[in-house]
Amino acid sequence: LTVLGIETSCDETAAAVVRRKADGRAEILSNVVRAQLDLHRRYGGVVPEIAARAHVELLDAAIQQALDDAGLTLDEINAVAATAGPGLIGGLIVGVVTGKSIALARGLPFIAVNHLEAHALTARLTDGIGFPYLLLLVSGGHTQLLAVEDVGRYRRLGTTLDDALGEAFDKTAKLLGLPYPGGPEVEKLAREGEANIPLPRPMLGREEPHFSLAGLKTAVRQAAQQRAPLSDQTVADLCASFQEAVAEIVEDRTARGMALYLERFGEDAPRQLVVAGGVAANQRLREALDGLCQRKGFTLHAPPLSLCSDNGAMIAWAGLEHFAKGESDGMDAEACARWPLDPEAPPAIGAGV
Ligand code: ATP
Ligand code: FE
Ligand code: MG
Repeated sequence: LTVLGIETSCDETAAAVVRRKADGRAEILSNVVRAQLDLHRRYGGVVPEIAARAHVELLDAAIQQALDDAGLTLDEINAVAATAGPGLIGGLIVGVVTGKSIALARGLPFIAVNHLEAHALTARLTDGIGFPYLLLLVSGGHTQLLAVEDVGRYRRLGTTLDDALGEAFDKTAKLLGLPYPGGPEVEKLAREGEANIPLPRPMLGREEPHFSLAGLKTAVRQAAQQRAPLSDQTVADLCASFQEAVAEIVEDRTARGMALYLERFGEDAPRQLVVAGGVAANQRLREALDGLCQRKGFTLHAPPLSLCSDNGAMIAWAGLEHFAKGESDGMDAEACARWPLDPEAPPAIGAGV
């Protein structure tokens, strides 16, 4: 099975070809990512309209490059998958329309892929793990703990009550005057600083594994104001202190998620933790999760950096997983900005306690 995957939900224009061989082993034949960072940087964040226009301009060439890198033509592709949500609607429409057009012209099945599901299933592409597993999804738009039961079956255990983790990194970076995207910048500077500035750890010890990150960012702002004008060393110390607080929060919340996971699937369930999404690139976070997993007898599965942030290979793979189960979508599949993985999850409550 060979699937072409298209990703246009945010500011990466990406296309990739992934194959699963008869013996079940998966192979990434190509993975082309055209980041639009330079277009958005001067605005300090992604501008949806600019992103959508850039996807229109970049996507065809990215797809051609993905086919060329794989050494294949469309004749050798079995299905086309595109991110249909959640994300910025303009970009999603570009990807879905392009994917459906190729599918229609070639008489191929089309699969509308959930972007979060693609992050969730990446560890099966890279590590070949089975179900179930606990997923910590930490990206620019999402912060969730999910029990992954099967392809298409996700139970949300915890979520953020306010900002996503990547968003908290980006906003913290911005208020410290660091360039966008902030996550990698904060991590880089944190290495030169010391975590010696007291910051709160919201939600620590709380029963339900929810997150709340807006207050942490505000605390960094106040600490920065108190220390203005900021020396380079203080900025580095603030980054280190913020990252340290985040690592502790994530470790504590994930520990609660593990407990709920074992309650749900039994003590004998496979003890597997997968971390996915762009923030999974953070080494301090991985270190914290590594320690937690060792203590709790879990194995940690973190995709390589290039597959943590948005890419086409994860979309192709998620499409392949559905297609292998005999599922595909019609030409009436539509882009949708909102598309939760667990539609039955109740709204997260409990802020302010
Ligand atoms: P979503 O997947 O929820 O739609 P997204 O596509 O913006 O959101 P990703 O591309 O998966 O998210 O991840 C981008 C986020 O990851 C940004 O917020 C970025 O700052 C953050 N990030 C990237 N590298 C690091 C790092 N080393 N440390 C912390 N955060 C990071
Ligand atoms: Fe993403
Ligand atoms: Mg992104």
